[in-house]
Amino acid sequence: MKLNLNIQPLNTWLNTNNEPLLISGPCSAETEEQLLTTAHLLAATGKISVLRAGIWKPRTRPGEFEGIGSIGLEWLKRAKAETGLPIAVEVANAKHVEEALAAGVDILWIGARSTVNPFTVQEIADALKGHDVPVLIKNPVNPDLQLWIGAIERINGAGITKIGAIHRGFSSFEKSSFRNEPMWELAIQLKTLCPELPIINDPSHICGNRELIPYISQKALDLDMQGLMIESHVDPSVAWTDAKQQVTPAALAELVDRLTVREPEA
Ligand code: PEP
Ligand code: MN
Repeated sequence: MKLNLNIQPLNTWLNTNNEPLLISGPCSAETEEQLLTTAHLLAATGKISVLRAGIWKPRTRPGEFEGIGSIGLEWLKRAKAETGLPIAVEVANAKHVEEALAAGVDILWIGARSTVNPFTVQEIADALKGHDVPVLIKNPVNPDLQLWIGAIERINGAGITKIGAIHRGFSSFEKSSFRNEPMWELAIQLKTLCPELPIINDPSHICGNRELIPYISQKALDLDMQGLMIESHVDPSVAWTDAKQQVTPAALAELVDRLTVREPEA
């Protein structure tokens, strides 16, 4: 059974030059200098369409860096003004949505730890009512397709039609070389239920290390996913979060050059 969603095709709300969408930027905005330097290096590659940075970070355990907070919006605004790149942040509650929209953030995303909670998703959906901002919805942490669908329905139900799903893998008790198991079949099932819904792959959070990212990226493109979100940092070795999986802007450009995109069938 198909899902009853009202979704606008990706190329009607984001210019990707008919190439897979590439979203990149640091896991976390750390300092203004780190964000701006990374943004300028990324823009100079000419490969990316959207700059991402987390400013409110959901950490598994307390006591670690939980994001730079609202000041990061000012840095992102400056990065946008200087590079011309649209900007994206993660939102996890109504206050985040209000602040991000007031700052002119172009794209919002809902993180895996928020998608698991219908109350949180509904709070975000209610805060989005009356706005026309694109929203990307990561899969929930656990392999529950219904929760992912439910989050998409809640955001769509608030009148948001510029929606994409982000496939970032699923936690599993099994020992694995991935940080989050791809479980591709769940993304494929989602696509089958809603063919018009763009699916963007997040190889960074699937892999948990930069070495595997090219393979997962290629696999996602082979499955006709419409884009990639890949974390990048001017100096990944000193990143405050997700250091092992971030790549430099130069490495990102190289990685993207090696990917092959299948010609659409005639
Ligand atoms: C992130 O994108 O940095 C992030 C926290 O991802 P996820 O919600 O997929 O864990
Ligand atoms: Mn991250």
